[in-house]
Amino acid sequence: MRLILLGPPGSGKGTQAQRLIHRYGIVQLSTGEMLRAAVAAQTPVGLKAKDIMAAGGLVPDEVVIGIISDRLDQGDAAKGFILDGFPRTVPQAEALDVLLKKKHLKLDAVIELRVNESALLERVERRAAEMRTRGEEVRVDDTAEVLIKRLASYRSMTEPLIHYYSERRKLLTVDGMMTIEHVTHEIGRILAAIGAIEPKTPKRAAKPAARAARWKAPKSAKKASGGARKAAKSPSGRPKKATAGKAAKKSLRKAGSASARRPAKGSRNAAKKAAKKAKKR
Ligand code: AMP
Repeated sequence: MRLILLGPPGSGKGTQAQRLIHRYGIVQLSTGEMLRAAVAAQTPVGLKAKDIMAAGGLVPDEVVIGIISDRLDQGDAAKGFILDGFPRTVPQAEALDVLLKKKHLKLDAVIELRVNESALLERVERRAAEMRTRGEEVRVDDTAEVLIKRLASYRSMTEPLIHYYSERRKLLTVDGMMTIEHVTHEIGRILAAIGAIEPKTPKRAAKPAARAARWKAPKSAKKASGGARKAAKSPSGRPKKATAGKAAKKSLRKAGSASARRPAKGSRNAAKKAAKKAKKR
């Protein structure tokens, strides 16, 4: 399974990635983590990135693309991966498309964690406090001042990726304001709906359901995210944060239930046909 997690700083990408890697045995490729490691090790990349990161800016595309390309070639990524914090710009997304094509790899989905921006500051402050309690070093960019800059950069540079992946029918939106457990559950549910993982249903029902979900999902997923985005816009074009999560949830519920109903009808028809044939015989 190959996924991208999209969302502003503090939206829970790292937390969800950690849970997904344990559940599905895939690796998390976080450019932020890799860059922090490079800064700590004082490698040439680290030295280049250090000040940019501390100020909440974006490290040049060619640097992060190089890191990701090398990382994708390592053996542990063969089973699948979650990209967390990459791509962050449209040129990075285009470069990733080229990389994946070259390596004959296909992306399963891009999961957007939609969050209420006003809650982010509180989340980031809580993360810093928890790290301090655990005696860990707090990230230099986990301050209110830098977060505001990182959010602005997310809006202008990264948000266009929502449109980019929506157009390519890869985008799935999840309400990131729910509890951690609930978000993980939703992600699992939509991954099952698109056929990226086995749904948690009895074996006999699982096969046709997975097939129908695979057939239907790209369109409904687009609808779900598109609907959510439409509903999330106010007439001025600015996002209406309070309704965005609900709309995304509602559309996703629709997408999920549509794909869940279809196979049931299909198997009913198949059963009827089989009964008729048997009667004739
Ligand atoms: P993160 O841990 O994803 O919040 O990333 C921390 C910092 O690393 C960001 O604020 C950027 O300075 C840098 N960074 C991480 N990923 C990227 C990327 N894909 N492109 C540019 N800069 C990045």
